[in-house]
Amino acid sequence: MTARPTPAPAFPAGTILGYPRIGRRRELKHAVEAFWVGSITAAELELRAAELRATTRARLAGLGLGRGDSAIPESFSFYDHVLDTAVTVGAVPSRFAQLVADDGSLDLAGYFTLARGAGDNLPLEMTKWFDSNYHYLVPEIGPETEFRLASDRLVREFEEAKAGGYLTRPVIVGPVTFLLLAKASDGAPAGFEPLSRLDELLPVYTELLARLHAAGAEWVQLDEPGLVNESIPVARPVQLAALAEAYRVLAGATARPAIFVAAPYGALGDALPVLAASAVEAIGLDLVRGPLPTGLGQETSAALASKTLVAGVIDGHNIWRGDLEAALTAAESLGALSPAVSVSSSTSLLHLPHDASEETKLGALGNWLAFADQKVGQIAAVAAGLRDGRESVRAELEAAAAALAERLAAPGVRDAAVRARTGALGTADYERGDYAERVAAQEAALPLPLLPTTTIGSFPQTADIRRARARLNSGALSPAEYESLMKAEIDRVVRLQEEIGLDVLVHGEPERNDMVQYFAENLDGFAVTEHGWVQSYGSRCTRPSLLWGDVSRPAPITLDWAVYAQSLTEKPVKGMLTGPVTILAWSFVRDDQPLGETATQLALALRDEIGELEGAGIGIIQVDEPALRELLPLQRADHAGYLDWSVGSFRLATAGVRAETQIHTHLCYSEFGDVIDAIGRLDADVTSVEAARSRMEIVDDIGRSGFDHGIGPGVYDIHSPRVPGVAEMTQLLERALEVVPGRRLWVNPDCGLKTRGYAETTESLQNMLAATQAVRAGA
Ligand code: GLN
Ligand code: ZN
Repeated sequence: MTARPTPAPAFPAGTILGYPRIGRRRELKHAVEAFWVGSITAAELELRAAELRATTRARLAGLGLGRGDSAIPESFSFYDHVLDTAVTVGAVPSRFAQLVADDGSLDLAGYFTLARGAGDNLPLEMTKWFDSNYHYLVPEIGPETEFRLASDRLVREFEEAKAGGYLTRPVIVGPVTFLLLAKASDGAPAGFEPLSRLDELLPVYTELLARLHAAGAEWVQLDEPGLVNESIPVARPVQLAALAEAYRVLAGATARPAIFVAAPYGALGDALPVLAASAVEAIGLDLVRGPLPTGLGQETSAALASKTLVAGVIDGHNIWRGDLEAALTAAESLGALSPAVSVSSSTSLLHLPHDASEETKLGALGNWLAFADQKVGQIAAVAAGLRDGRESVRAELEAAAAALAERLAAPGVRDAAVRARTGALGTADYERGDYAERVAAQEAALPLPLLPTTTIGSFPQTADIRRARARLNSGALSPAEYESLMKAEIDRVVRLQEEIGLDVLVHGEPERNDMVQYFAENLDGFAVTEHGWVQSYGSRCTRPSLLWGDVSRPAPITLDWAVYAQSLTEKPVKGMLTGPVTILAWSFVRDDQPLGETATQLALALRDEIGELEGAGIGIIQVDEPALRELLPLQRADHAGYLDWSVGSFRLATAGVRAETQIHTHLCYSEFGDVIDAIGRLDADVTSVEAARSRMEIVDDIGRSGFDHGIGPGVYDIHSPRVPGVAEMTQLLERALEVVPGRRLWVNPDCGLKTRGYAETTESLQNMLAATQAVRAGA
């Protein structure tokens, strides 16, 4: 096969790698959820999605992306783009075979079933997307997977755009990244490697490219971020060989659009020469996370000179307006490698809210921000500067520079009192003292049965609770009325837990809109947005807070609620806080100082709160760090530094308490295999961790690691309304007991219960108690 004969159409001067799909007012979320509950049909959902796509294209054109030059990416998804890729290539796990039509396709209901499960068929596993707070569904690939072009959705969306007057650029996960992110299917033999199926997968991509070409697509974007991630457990030479083979085959096809391979989230490193040697027409580099490539051999340099290099210089990962001039300089510097340089976001803008201009309550801060729409404007400016010279965009560059200078000098960005305190810290502030002594002190202070039962913190956030908060915010409820409603809810939750027979109670977190935002609202240094929603997974969105200045705690945050809950019961009530790393991970953070410094400030604020809880008689305090794994850098060389400051911030927050005060932590959302040692270094007395979806695999990892503190591997998945049976949980506990001695094993669900209803929560917890009693009786 030869490379395509006709010269490639020019790549657009400015583009983005992807755009938020959820809608400015979360239209997609509302439509998808309406479909799930049956209040709209599939046809109606399709219609609303098409409207949203049309609005997005018009918006992007209005912001300066070309209508007719492939600048606008076609990056919509109903739920997740990795799931879309799996469905496109026919990779549906065999347990869902009954959903698949003869031609390999799935209808919308079937598509959502893969994401959400049905009956005993568990959904695809969900895990974090690179170092972001977005979660994708993990494809399952085995020798039995029959690849075929099973969905023409991408082609139809391109045609839909064309009919509306736009020549867009379809986006799909590239074949190598797709397989690197996949896991071996249940039926696959031990040691099976999804990447070994590349040869059978490539014809499907070739066919898709041919279909897009026939439909008139000039460019297609294949995302290959898998190549920048050193955490993927496939040997690098094998990855590079797969990359070479994939783009030899795809670029060798004669009927195809020009190929743009994007590599967001980091540096391509030794994958760049491989891509350079292929016949792809454009390569995207993340110049925000990765440096400008240097030391390239002569062959690579010569090859790159004939390609378009797409400079990812506008940060797709944070909300700051930033230094536009530096972005232009970085884009210009790529000119040393190729005469054809275009400008883009460093990653998809999926990680950003839509539009900062809708935030009307942020005062000066508003001028320092750039959400997705503002980033598109910045890209258009940098592209213009690249084409017409720096002077042509002087006004934009100066306005950005002025905003940045104003931000760095603003009151509150640097707080002398906070800095004096962090500057005075010593190693003793990070040490809790001997674990065995703590165990003895805690056993004396807290009489608990074998296999103590507890929950992770939140109880169902009912419509009534949410309504009360909305009425508080609108002024319809006074703070005193709101407080008494929340206290009534706490009464109810405490009573329910006593009836069920749990050993360590919680207050249920009714007063928290969100485990991070609640703290952000009560700490100095943060601001919260009105419309800043970002997709977390599927239809779930979060509204990250903006961490813009030095952090301090003007007043106690959780104290009164915890003390109130403890006043209602003889059983211990756990105090409940969100840890520094998670607060950072789920906020938009400042970029003017290392994250570790901000974490230290947060840790000190939490340390004060913990001290007050302890002083008020709260004997167990949980500091949640579900995002500990999430912030782990993609490059191995950066791991140790990250783990030092992240573990350090947890220890700093928790090390001020007496030996008899029991510190818990909670981890979820990730596979923790590569941070097991760090979990030990947190030195929490008890760690609860998500485990049910992976059938307790984590327990083996923990056993191997030598971890010897208390552990509560979750015995049921709280992501679905399914009520787990007693036998099922009994088995999981017995499985855990094979590795963990009974006196260290705690019994709890996988995570908080806030997204669940009361009916299934009550029944599930009753079953959890019955399972515990059965195991205790047998022990
Ligand atoms: N304590 C929190 C809750 O139960 C923990 C949530 C989480 O881990 N995501 O809601
Ligand atoms: Zn959790």
